[in-house]
Amino acid sequence: MEYDFLIVGAGLFGAVFAERATAAGKRVLVIDKRSHIAGNVYTEPVAGINVHRYGPHIFHTHMDEVWEYVHRFARFNDFVYRPLASYHGEMYSLPFNMHTFEQMWGVTTAEEAAARIAQQRGAAPAEPQNLEEQAISLVGTEIYEKLIKGYTEKQWGRPCTELPSFIIKRLPVRLEYNDNYFNDPHQGIPMGGYTAMVQRMLEGIEVRLGQDYLADRAAWDALAPRVVYTGPIDAFFGYRLGTLEYRSLRFETEVLEQPDFQGRAAVNYTDRETPWTRIIEHKHFEFGTQPKTVVTREFSKEWQRGDEPYYPVNDARNAALYAQYRELADAEPRHLFGGRLAEYRYYDMDDVIHLALEAAAREFNRG
Ligand code: FAD
Ligand code: UDP
Repeated sequence: MEYDFLIVGAGLFGAVFAERATAAGKRVLVIDKRSHIAGNVYTEPVAGINVHRYGPHIFHTHMDEVWEYVHRFARFNDFVYRPLASYHGEMYSLPFNMHTFEQMWGVTTAEEAAARIAQQRGAAPAEPQNLEEQAISLVGTEIYEKLIKGYTEKQWGRPCTELPSFIIKRLPVRLEYNDNYFNDPHQGIPMGGYTAMVQRMLEGIEVRLGQDYLADRAAWDALAPRVVYTGPIDAFFGYRLGTLEYRSLRFETEVLEQPDFQGRAAVNYTDRETPWTRIIEHKHFEFGTQPKTVVTREFSKEWQRGDEPYYPVNDARNAALYAQYRELADAEPRHLFGGRLAEYRYYDMDDVIHLALEAAAREFNRG
């Protein structure tokens, strides 16, 4: 066969695996059905600004080995994500920290903030069963109503009482004046954009774009004994057990003839009435000083076949269906399934890189 590995998907999982395989002396072909590399972390220049085409991407990790690995392909700036919340035009600090509590209640000490939350939490159940109960237990009813409920119901298209509590636990709650959105020790944006970083990972590796593996699987499988698949797992099996649910997104991007629009990389619109979930102003990721600015409004919608799948819907029905597909996948000896779509998990970039490095280590250190 012509190659040792066919890698389906030029996103982070595919690119990292391809880089490691090539370093191990393997012959690799990477294909992607899109017209570009980098998957969802793709950035493209517009008016001299790197635009995050598939939503804002901030690199953050607690894994030193992942941080060291990405530094082989890019330099990172010292960007720290500090989005704001706009609720009917009132501006609040995110994540939930002393700035937020001061803006919401006029309190200035941790003790006062904790007392407010405790008072509003009231008799919330000790073991929250859904996102609403979890949110009220963490920050009380008022912050839940103003900063969480509207945003979450727009984002997920489901009532907060029907969503799992873990989703809201992604966000820190701090009784400190610290508005860093993440707790990880490492954070930044690759200078020059994510596409350039992935390009360097794929240096010297054959990549064919605009190629759908599932459209002609037999022909692609004939090229290599081992196939790494990073697309949706249900699509791989022809949806034979049913369709996994996703949330999809729609982006409206415009170039504005002004140097600044909102003074921040991201403003979340947390009221129910504003139709978009957030506005991204891309230049702030790289501290841009261009004369123009590029902004993107992000709208969330239910995924239908043909849309880009963005967020897996991690409820019980989908988890059970995924488990069945996983059994089918485990019975495919030639194929390795990896990444956000093939594993149906809402992984961050560092998780995906870590998993690809581990998969490669297992693959190349064996026997
Ligand atoms: P993907 O990037 O989706 O790559 C899979 C590739 O496979 C795609 O390019 C696709 O075209 C290709 N493919 C699929 N099927 C086929 C086929 N049949 N034939 C050929 N090619 C195929 N993570 C963070 O760490 N920080 C963030 O701030 C952050 N923000 C995010 C914001 C949004 C809106 C979203 C949706 C995600 C965000 N993430 C963030 C998560 C991050 O995008 C993912 O962890 C990462 O991009 C996943 O990489 P992947 O390789 O698994 O998948
Ligand atoms: N969330 C919210 N208000 C906000 C931001 C986030 O209620 O202003 C909730 C929402 O339910 C979201 C979850 O917190 O899905 C996790 O937020 P995160 O920013 O991690 O979302 P992601 O990066 O996955 O889009």
